[in-house]
Amino acid sequence: MTTVSWVEVNDDDGFGVDNLPYGVFSRPGELPRVGVAIGAHVLDLAGLSAAGLVDDRRWFAAGSLNGFMIAGRAAWQANRARLIELLTDERHRASVEPHLIPLTDVELLRPIEVADFVDFYSSLDHATNAGRIFRPQGEPLSPNWKHLPVAYHGRSGTIYPSGTPIVRPCGQRRASRDQEPSYGPSLKLDFEAEVGFVAGVPSAAGSRVPTAGFADHVFGFVLVNDWSARDIQFWESQPLGPFLGKSFATSISPWVVPLAALEAARVPQPVQDPAPLPYLQVDEPWGLDLALEILINGQVVARPSFASMYWTPPQQLAHATVNGAPLRTGDLFASGTVSGPERDQRGCLLELTWNGAEHLELPDGSKRLFLEDGDTVTLRATAPGTGGGRIGFGDLSGTVLPANP
Ligand code: MN
Repeated sequence: MTTVSWVEVNDDDGFGVDNLPYGVFSRPGELPRVGVAIGAHVLDLAGLSAAGLVDDRRWFAAGSLNGFMIAGRAAWQANRARLIELLTDERHRASVEPHLIPLTDVELLRPIEVADFVDFYSSLDHATNAGRIFRPQGEPLSPNWKHLPVAYHGRSGTIYPSGTPIVRPCGQRRASRDQEPSYGPSLKLDFEAEVGFVAGVPSAAGSRVPTAGFADHVFGFVLVNDWSARDIQFWESQPLGPFLGKSFATSISPWVVPLAALEAARVPQPVQDPAPLPYLQVDEPWGLDLALEILINGQVVARPSFASMYWTPPQQLAHATVNGAPLRTGDLFASGTVSGPERDQRGCLLELTWNGAEHLELPDGSKRLFLEDGDTVTLRATAPGTGGGRIGFGDLSGTVLPANP
């Protein structure tokens, strides 16, 4: 698709007509509703619907995308095609333009009502680094790691939109020099740069979603920051976890990039050796060429690449449902920390500072071992769009506030 919108779009926005990510927004005194990003604007789909310009089965005058996500692939495709028509054909300009609202005038809310939340551990470099840090004497990878995508179930009730402040969690932790644990604010607060996908169409209990069924169930992708209190996590995760070291907060991007917008980003995934069991095999390329950027206080500290992930999203979904656990609309599956082989491709401070052993120096000369109160972490990602430019997810930001006494 090389069509151009009559809406002015800067290349740097990442919001050309080949993206059209979905979000939920509000203006002061108005109810939340669904929109898509185009250039520096949000296109108000509830407004378009009221004007009779899009098909709408009560999807868009809503505080979450869930009603539209459950409608399924045919509805998603039809709406996307209609929006592209409205935004590229000059004849629609006069009727559509009143429904464009500057992004600076709206508040972007959490786009989905999250059902269940799973966090994988699918980067080979991240799992290897974490294994070396925690078990320096042993094999970095557990024996199952290359046979199944390892994951834990997280807490969906603490998934927050971008911009939500993150209060430093308190809990029980034991420093390596201490015999006994103590209680207090986490001293090792960290971020994890991740990419997640959101289920739209549910599956039946007792059945599974094969890798080839991914696009029939999955609505789109978001950026995820899996905030992590490493000291709490290490002490509690013996032998089960993560639990409180993760459950205090997870942040997601304001925009859900639909699957259709990522077609040009699909690349072959890394070779898997040993070959996975048949239920985990994929016939199509499902690596995704997303270039991530991690910033602390506006300064880039790492640039991981999602294309290097060992386990792909269709494999993660097939594995998560192989026992017959049904998918629910709004289920969020995050990738696990995205890390590459180079030091500047590591997706969390645990790896960037080797668990606090080496300072990370920011471009302005300041140094970090873990996050300090007042630090703002921002995640970004771009991908090749079908129009030849780059598409984006918008900024995912959160600022650390001091612990509550
Ligand atoms: Mn994680």
